[in-house]
Amino acid sequence: MRKDHYGALIVGAGPSGLSCAVNLYNRGYTDIAVVERAVFPRYKCCAGYITGKTKKEYEKLGIDIESCRYSLIADFNIYYKCKKRQNIVNKFLYTNAGIDRVELDFEFYKKAASLGIEIAENVKINEHDPQNKTLTFSDGQTVKYENLVFADGSSGFSSRYTKAKRRNIAMQLIFDSDLPDGIDIHFGITKRGYGWVSTYNGKTNAGLTDVYDPGLNYKDVFASYLDRIGIKADLSDLRAAYEPIGIKKTPDHGNVYFVGDAAGCCDPLTLSGLRYGLSSGEAAAAAIVSNDPSVYKKFLSKLKSKFAVMSVMQRVFYLKSTLFCVFSVGCRVFRPLISRVFNNFFVNKK
Ligand SMILES: Cc1cc2nc3c(=O)[nH]c(=O)nc-3n(C[C@H](O)[C@H](O)[C@H](O)COP(=O)(O)OP(=O)(O)OC[C@H]3O[C@@H](n4cnc5c(N)ncnc54)[C@H](O)[C@@H]3O)c2cc1C
Repeated sequence: MRKDHYGALIVGAGPSGLSCAVNLYNRGYTDIAVVERAVFPRYKCCAGYITGKTKKEYEKLGIDIESCRYSLIADFNIYYKCKKRQNIVNKFLYTNAGIDRVELDFEFYKKAASLGIEIAENVKINEHDPQNKTLTFSDGQTVKYENLVFADGSSGFSSRYTKAKRRNIAMQLIFDSDLPDGIDIHFGITKRGYGWVSTYNGKTNAGLTDVYDPGLNYKDVFASYLDRIGIKADLSDLRAAYEPIGIKKTPDHGNVYFVGDAAGCCDPLTLSGLRYGLSSGEAAAAAIVSNDPSVYKKFLSKLKSKFAVMSVMQRVFYLKSTLFCVFSVGCRVFRPLISRVFNNFFVNKK
């Protein structure tokens, strides 16, 4: 790293870390360094869907998602137990042509670098000393900070300080295919989650989520899902990651902030995490600039209440009786209502 002391040291150059860095810069705070263990462009296990609200968050940061090959994919089909229940016109969900997030994250990285923000890649943290406010890296360098932002995802260095009580597992496989463009969402294939198959320009992204059950072999669950919908694919590239359910409890280390997945800022019902990663990075930047950690605490406490409601909705939605009402009655009798709720609540507001 170029210096041994920074006003703001950010761990992780994902969306939440770079949002914090760019928001600090835009507020005139430039003594920033971002440390990242990977080298960009880097892969991140994520379907990379962008909702209407997420698109606006990126635009605020000067990122035009259309220039990263994003566009509105064809319509949704929703299924229950592999039987098609309804087609929904897609109004708000944007997808990248590679059906992943590599280009978007790289674009954000280039944007931050073009502002002169220092991003040190391929860096491994050996030790964090909260008393002396230092981080020591694997090359032996020790760097002092005034503010530290952990934006290192759900299983980065900071996960030793935090523990999610419950978590979602999400898996995905990207492969070349000749399926038609479109998004199929399958409910009822996991106990408390959903599956998706999205195809765009000859690339398919198939994935599933569930509230993690340690008694299940999720590779088998995934294989059986693909089998049931008639997709044959090589599973050797199957990727999986955990997403916390709810805002995590974090230690009070003074000016140390946890943002994005490191704090649990991911909607437990839909797994939409980009928007909350970006907004939590912005809120941490506002707290650092005003030298007032309570600004960030207030943001997290509001999000905590929102996610608590989403978590209850998750439990209620996946009850057999609710699924019956939604898919067997709702999709037959209240089609316009289901479309509106799906587009606005499940997609656009996330
Ligand atoms: C399968 C799956 C599908 C998903 N699909 C969507 C979707 O379609 N839309 C959506 O909005 N959300 C989705 N999410 C959620 C979304 O991926 C996350 O909420 C989002 O990536 C959080 O951003 P972040 O910056 O906090 O963390 P990350 O994107 O994980 O970035 C963390 C960064 O920190 C780096 N890092 C980790 N450890 C260290 C360390 N020790 N030192 C330095 N750097 C470190 C990593 O390399 C990485 O670059 C999905 C999640 C999964 C698992």
